[in-house]
Amino acid sequence: MKVNFLDLKTQYLNIKPEIDDAIQQVLDRSAFAAGPFVKAFEEHFAAAHQCKFCVGVNSGTAALHIVMMALEIGPGDEVIVPANTFFATPEAVSLAGAKPVFVDHEPDYYNIDVNLIEKAITPKTRAIIAVNLYGQPAQLDKVKALADKHHLVLVEDCAQSHLATLNGQSTGTFGLAGCFSFYPGKNLGAYGEGGAVITNDEALYKKMMMLRDHGSAQKYHHDLIGHNYRLEGMQGAILDVKLKHLPQWTEARRRNANLYRKYLAPVKEVVVPQEMPGAKHVYHIFCIRVPRREELIKFLSENQVYTGIHYPIPCHLQNAYASLGYKTGDLPVSEQFADQLLSLPMCEVLTEEEIIYVCDTIKRFYAAS
Ligand SMILES: *Cc1c(COP(=O)(O)O)cnc(C)c1O
Repeated sequence: MKVNFLDLKTQYLNIKPEIDDAIQQVLDRSAFAAGPFVKAFEEHFAAAHQCKFCVGVNSGTAALHIVMMALEIGPGDEVIVPANTFFATPEAVSLAGAKPVFVDHEPDYYNIDVNLIEKAITPKTRAIIAVNLYGQPAQLDKVKALADKHHLVLVEDCAQSHLATLNGQSTGTFGLAGCFSFYPGKNLGAYGEGGAVITNDEALYKKMMMLRDHGSAQKYHHDLIGHNYRLEGMQGAILDVKLKHLPQWTEARRRNANLYRKYLAPVKEVVVPQEMPGAKHVYHIFCIRVPRREELIKFLSENQVYTGIHYPIPCHLQNAYASLGYKTGDLPVSEQFADQLLSLPMCEVLTEEEIIYVCDTIKRFYAAS
């Protein structure tokens, strides 16, 4: 049996008539750059998160950067970010001209360690970006309380947490803004690049609508220095179709996570991910903690099971941030994650048979040694 890390082809085939029709409509109306299909998607995406406003942009990176721009975060400012995240999280801070300050993770739920945030706050700190890593909400209520106490802005990186909730409240709505990615492999993926920011703050919404379109609210009248961060009409139409299926796909991911936990329970070498009390995890990534990871990866791929590592190098140790002066040992939990975490195949079309095969292959590896 062959189990791919991700299967976007089967997902497309399952909804082909709807997708093909949506693409045809965009072609028929020539609504390619932002426009009516993007607007409809923005309304539906905001509503899906019980939020008032949504700005469609052309990547998750753009979503994070446009929030930094709207908040006028720049040179001399610091922004607190977790160390184990996709590079785009701190990169957006750097693109704005500010400095990312990395904080370590807590070992149980893999998100930013709230107890370490306060130590990282300086007079230059302007914001905290909480990442809901792998689809599990960070301790957003506690991070928000800390942000309020120190008069900082909370921004959420929700690139992996579409429809996730904490105590019934959607991720992306705890702070001032929630930034989403629609990179094809995300829980809600475009057929190309895409992203969005959700917010309940009308002034911020209006500013971001201008910033995504060269700082302009009226064509050829530019009040701000912005960017071309518009979401394509084609992607808006495709995302709007897929959004209707997302609640069901999310439940399938959660079911698959439970099956993994069930079939991996007898393998004592494997630590499976846990849901934080009150959190609804949406399993963008199902990652286990294992000894002898590199050998296991090799064995799995020899048996046609394809896995991933999220992420092999924590952000504070990336070459691009060498000038910040971090060294190995500074943020030990995130460094341990980089050595021990292994992401198993996960998507909504994964079958129980495939999950059993993956788990049996892992079992065979540890039994043989
Ligand atoms: C994917 C991702 C991003 C960046 O999104 P793009 O759409 O690829 O620009 C940012 N943060 C996290 C945590 C991500 O997983």
